[in-house]
Amino acid sequence: MGAGRFGREHLRELVQLEAEGRLVLGAVVVQTEASQQRLANELHVPVHRSLTAELLDTVDAVVIATPAETHVGLVRQALTKCHVLVEKPLSDRAEEAELLVREFAGHGKHLMVGHNYRFHPAIEKVKALVDAEPQAPRLVEFAMLNEVDGESIRSDRNPNLEFLHAFDIMDFLFSQEPTVETARITGRSHEISVRYGDSVHCVMNIGWHSAPRVRRLVVRYSGVTLACDLLRNTVTVQRKNRVDTVNLPPQPVSLRRQFEKFISVIQGEADNPMPPAAAARIIALAQRTTPGIRKRRPRVAVIGGGVFGMNCALELSSGCEVTLIERHAEFMEGVSFVNQWRHHSGFHYPRSYDTIQEIRSAKAAFERHYHDAILRSIPAYFCPAATGIEIPAERYVAACASNYLSFRFEYPPSNIVDRDRIALSLLSDEGVYDFERLRDMTKARLSEAGNVKIELASEVVDGALLADGTKKLTILCGGRAHEEDFDYVVNATYSNINLMAKWFSFPAEPLRFDLYEMLLLRIDIDPICVTVLDGPFTSLLGTGKDNLFLLSHIHDSVLKSDITDDGLPPDWGDIQSNRGNMLQSASSYFPILAEAQVIESRYATRAVNAFARDFDARPTVVRNHGFGCWSVLGGKILTCVSNAREIAAAIASAAGVASAAGSASRPMKS
Ligand SMILES: Cc1cc2nc3c(=O)[nH]c(=O)nc-3n(C[C@H](O)[C@H](O)[C@H](O)COP(=O)(O)OP(=O)(O)OC[C@H]3O[C@@H](n4cnc5c(N)ncnc54)[C@H](O)[C@@H]3O)c2cc1C
Repeated sequence: MGAGRFGREHLRELVQLEAEGRLVLGAVVVQTEASQQRLANELHVPVHRSLTAELLDTVDAVVIATPAETHVGLVRQALTKCHVLVEKPLSDRAEEAELLVREFAGHGKHLMVGHNYRFHPAIEKVKALVDAEPQAPRLVEFAMLNEVDGESIRSDRNPNLEFLHAFDIMDFLFSQEPTVETARITGRSHEISVRYGDSVHCVMNIGWHSAPRVRRLVVRYSGVTLACDLLRNTVTVQRKNRVDTVNLPPQPVSLRRQFEKFISVIQGEADNPMPPAAAARIIALAQRTTPGIRKRRPRVAVIGGGVFGMNCALELSSGCEVTLIERHAEFMEGVSFVNQWRHHSGFHYPRSYDTIQEIRSAKAAFERHYHDAILRSIPAYFCPAATGIEIPAERYVAACASNYLSFRFEYPPSNIVDRDRIALSLLSDEGVYDFERLRDMTKARLSEAGNVKIELASEVVDGALLADGTKKLTILCGGRAHEEDFDYVVNATYSNINLMAKWFSFPAEPLRFDLYEMLLLRIDIDPICVTVLDGPFTSLLGTGKDNLFLLSHIHDSVLKSDITDDGLPPDWGDIQSNRGNMLQSASSYFPILAEAQVIESRYATRAVNAFARDFDARPTVVRNHGFGCWSVLGGKILTCVSNAREIAAAIASAAGVASAAGSASRPMKS
């Protein structure tokens, strides 16, 4: 039944199977007279315009490939006399499909629903690999996206129902009911996050986007990644350093296999792989996870009151009820304070053009708000070392010039920097943060913003992901714990970034932690900033206040390093300062240090990607975990506004846009 786009594909396979003696084609039923005439000329069997009881008496089975809304009626009619294979979806309403299941329970005929991706060679391969893997996956990501076209922008097209295959593939791989379900709208697509059991997280991105078609499934385990491209029919298996790619036969193999299976089912040789109850389960999941229109402003927890968390709270405040939770009694007490306070232009990253680009694109948004917290009058010099090997002077200048950095050739005073130890010197346009000013300005913006509830001296100690996607956080304040519920969580806890992964059993980010020491010095000279690059990367940075300077050294500042199994910062135990070695190493470049008075050591736990190939890169990493949870690991202060906007825009689009009108019976919180 049906000879439209899909119907013709079915017909082609059926004709082929008949030629191979696997079945006898009894008749074809089409809707229009034109189709009837055309097919009557092509085929040797009768072509009808309706399904009649007499016709059903002449056949053993019916294949239905008509428009979705006709499926249930036709199935009901045909199933009284014949076995039926019906194209998916069985129905666009789970209740209707469930009713059908009850109506025909035990009546003796087989109804198989055509979820043909179960027979797709690449999906079959992934299923075999998933079943063979001894460990459970940590994360499953599936993108099933079509390019936006005229048809797709019709607002009544619900991606959940149009891309039902995505739900079916997850059901096929994990054969379980999800324990957690959340969804959000992203433009013309939906991001659906489901968890199976305690820890298998699947994030599906389905619908339409402005790029070409994507059909990509990635299953991540600890140490193993399976990546399947359904358009190229490839499955790539990466185990540690080994990558194997399997090329599978082109389509339409799956349709043929589906028919072969159907024949086996009706001959009693195989179990029905897709009975109506399973189809109803998949439709119900698609319905339940259709994002609805939110009736109230979403509640967002921002954990971490550093410069990133504060700016996330600010950007979110216009559309959401925000709670900003910080364990210290004051804001910006973490690495937002213990850092070198450079307002980067890019001179620090001659080997990471990506980082320079990130700086260039983020700078304006930051300066629009915090221009007055940047000290511009302190000269900032960058000097490749005379013995430079990795970044010799010519290469350094070329890197700066080709990235359009603003500089001129000029040396710092020779009593400050030993000219024999440097190859040349660039006077840059970099500024330095006035830390107190930056903090005060950010706090002032927060108090003006409204919609931001501030919880200082409050530590988030636990979290739970509830079945409807609500995030329940346990917050310890003044020795007492209380719980709060949120629709979204933004995790801006820097070195504690994997705490959320622990609470919600998301995969942890592999991090290397460095215990880092900086010296605060008093030197009776005008403020100046000098950085010696290459091997010894040594910095003396004027703070602009009270003749105070910050000193750091690439090796001697790093007291300890560790990559922990759980991705959480180690307990460093008693910390022994390395100030003697720092001063000695740095003095070989900065003779002025002979006059320096040490005020204090400042210690920070630096968190960087454990296995970054680009060793010098310091990108800010925004991670969308699905389930309405984001993490942001700040690489540089000046990206805090643009990264906060990125997260706020994602949450706003989820919260403020009406869903495609589906027939969802229980639209979930978007
Ligand atoms: C040694 C060093 C030098 C640097 N130099 C520069 C520089 O010169 N210029 C530059 O732009 N960038 C620099 N950076 C990077 C910059 O410091 C960071 O990108 C930025 O400060 C990160 O801000 P944040 O808000 O993410 O982190 P933080 O300021 O550390 O904020 C995280 C907050 O989360 C809170 N928190 C953690 N766990 C919990 C919990 N369970 N409950 C509640 N609160 C919690 C912490 O108390 C903390 O206040 C440097 C970094 C390091 C390590």
